[in-house]
Amino acid sequence: MSQASVLMWFRRDLRASDNAALNAALRSGASVHCVFVFDRRILASLPPDDKRLVFIHAALAELQQTLRDAGGELLWRDGDPVREIPALARELGCASVYANRDYEPYARQRDADVAAQLTANLGQLQLHKDTVIFEQDQLLTGQGKPYTVYTPYMKRWRQSFHPALAAEASTALRGALAAPAGTRPLPTLTELGFGEATLDGLRVQTGRSGALALLDDFRRRITHYKTLRDFPAVKGVSYLSAHLRFGTLSVREAVRAALAEPSEGAECWLNELIWREFYQQLLWHFPAVAGESFKPEYRGLPFPNDAALFEAWSQGCTGYPLVDAAMRQLNHSGYMHNRLRMIAASFLVKDLLVDWRWGEAYFAQKLLDFDLAANNGGWQWAASTGCDAQPYFRIFNPVTQSEKFDSKGLFIRRYVPELAALDDKAIHAPWLAKTLPPGFVLGRDYPAPIVDHAVQRAAALRLFARD
Ligand SMILES: Cc1cc2nc3c(=O)[nH]c(=O)nc-3n(C[C@H](O)[C@H](O)[C@H](O)COP(=O)(O)OP(=O)(O)OC[C@H]3O[C@@H](n4cnc5c(N)ncnc54)[C@H](O)[C@@H]3O)c2cc1C
Repeated sequence: MSQASVLMWFRRDLRASDNAALNAALRSGASVHCVFVFDRRILASLPPDDKRLVFIHAALAELQQTLRDAGGELLWRDGDPVREIPALARELGCASVYANRDYEPYARQRDADVAAQLTANLGQLQLHKDTVIFEQDQLLTGQGKPYTVYTPYMKRWRQSFHPALAAEASTALRGALAAPAGTRPLPTLTELGFGEATLDGLRVQTGRSGALALLDDFRRRITHYKTLRDFPAVKGVSYLSAHLRFGTLSVREAVRAALAEPSEGAECWLNELIWREFYQQLLWHFPAVAGESFKPEYRGLPFPNDAALFEAWSQGCTGYPLVDAAMRQLNHSGYMHNRLRMIAASFLVKDLLVDWRWGEAYFAQKLLDFDLAANNGGWQWAASTGCDAQPYFRIFNPVTQSEKFDSKGLFIRRYVPELAALDDKAIHAPWLAKTLPPGFVLGRDYPAPIVDHAVQRAAALRLFARD
């Protein structure tokens, strides 16, 4: 009698070790087939130069090699997973499909549709917790409600945590993987319709090996995280977000790294991982935040939404040097430092008076680490519309933020080279400088500020107060 088979469906968990669903599939005793689906419903909305495809493709190539080295294979399909997964399960005779749970509204619907199709054909979709330590209803308030404030959530997370929750989920691959005949190499990016995508400007190393190398590098710096993390010109943060997003690193590995070497830096980093889970559980409980303000009183705010101002912001041409450097970093590399995400987001909403959802959508297009829960949470925090958000009357001053977090203008000079010759004071606000370098003309060589912060600040206060 032939051995029973199951199917492991990789999605945002592109690694063969410390993977909860793969581990469960391997432990089932059945022969494990592995598949990835290039989901046309997602790919259809991406531009041909989307960097995420490059990142995913590199991760898949490495995953395929790892599976092959262990005697298995990574199958792939190009289409709609709701059709492809049940069809493949039928074709391979797999009674069960294993996957890791995804909390985004699109993924929840997709998985419900796949599960319904499988059930109709006597199969089963087995979803596992993998991308977070605590999920869904695992952490609720004393009243049985979801947490909407970070600090009590963080405290509860820490009280409820025990090391078994971050234990490695790994079973040997060799001997348990199916090696179907007639396999095909992965499609190239060009074959997928993403021929213009390149790795140019992509600063993070890709694939599982890239994730491990970055984690190893960060472990040596984690002690200094608390003191350095706010300075974009300094290598103070981990740069692991895209790896956590696509699962080339497991959250358990990240948590283990934070706990391995107790220090203020490691404590602070663990808090950031908890922010990530806070926003994941928020999206799970309140999926409507994906389209509107968490706080009802800020729904329908009359933002003027000037398209020209939005365009200047997105292209890094506002005349506010640190905001422009931030946006150019994003456009060039697909990454933006957290401090800069807060500054750029605040500037769009409170200085340019553009609806936060415009900025959220722009970041969603450009960020390599784009994650609906974290991006939405970050934007609603900056726009003061979210739960536990910055109060609306606390408005970042883009010049003082620049003086504080990039005091020597190192980051600005890197991304706005036309300002390189300005001195360390003038570079934060060239229009206020008594003297500018010979030959430098403000308005010609670099934009004059497109708005006056003091005027816009007052306008934002009126807008939020609905005066
Ligand atoms: C407007 C705005 C939009 C954002 N959009 C995203 C997004 O789409 N995807 C994303 O992963 N993060 C987002 N963040 C959060 C944060 O900016 C990034 O996670 C961080 O800059 C990634 O760099 P890092 O990996 O070096 O972070 P580190 O400082 O090393 O942090 C470690 C990890 O913790 C998590 N994390 C850190 N800060 C936050 C946070 N505030 N909220 C949720 N998770 C956090 C990330 O997974 C990150 O990789 C956003 C923040 C703001 C203000």
